[in-house]
Amino acid sequence: MELEKALLRKVGEAIARFQMIREGDRVAVGVSGGKDSVTLLQALLLLARKSPVKFTVCAFTVEQGKFLSPIQPVGEWLRSRGIDWTYFQDNPSLRLLEDEPEHGCDMCSRFRRRAVYEIARGLGANVIAFGHTADDFCEAFLRNALFTGRLSALPAVTHSRKKEFRLIRPLVYVNEEMTRRFAESLGVPVIPCGCSQKTGTVRRSLRDFFTDLEKDYPHLKETILSAMGNIQPNRLLDPRFHSEEDEEDPQSGTMFPIVTES
Ligand code: SF4
Repeated sequence: MELEKALLRKVGEAIARFQMIREGDRVAVGVSGGKDSVTLLQALLLLARKSPVKFTVCAFTVEQGKFLSPIQPVGEWLRSRGIDWTYFQDNPSLRLLEDEPEHGCDMCSRFRRRAVYEIARGLGANVIAFGHTADDFCEAFLRNALFTGRLSALPAVTHSRKKEFRLIRPLVYVNEEMTRRFAESLGVPVIPCGCSQKTGTVRRSLRDFFTDLEKDYPHLKETILSAMGNIQPNRLLDPRFHSEEDEEDPQSGTMFPIVTES
């Protein structure tokens, strides 16, 4: 119960801060077979019951041929709890897998995104919720800074083209330790995706990097999330965000931060 309360507090905080959900919304949740999306779905269903803002929730899964075993046990588990679940076999994705088995994430995501919009349209949803967690936000932030030369992570709220759908990530403040424990407490079957087993990827390296550092600094990701919500643009190198009014921070004492050797 404590875990559920903590989860709902964090999801509720994200929804309120970024105005993710509004009166009358129909929210479609993509269930991927993993712990994160099921946690998200359950959190939204619980909040929909309690919230003074009235909204409905439905769930779907896109079959792209990547699950290591059939996803149906998850669907049966959801339906046995009265949850509205749609299974959608995406034939273009399955053909892609046959034609280009080594295709990258960019192409796979593009195919998935198109399928997701098609399903959401069919379900009458105007909001699509994704199960990206605090861990995903931190990894995206570091990946972009280290490999793409950009300071950015993932949008907590954004829109599809022409604003047909609001796209939301309500697990932004929820870490994967919490989704793992919560999914376990639900007893929902977890069906891994073949890609989650890949080694030698940037994602895997970043995960290992965090795991290593978190042994000594367990709150590292919370600090990174705070940093993402507390930007000091005049201390970065993008002149578009500098202004004539900028003043030197008296605490810094110098134009350049002094790095002391320990
Ligand atoms: S990790 Fe696998 S399933 Fe995910 S986007 Fe990449 S190719 Fe697709």
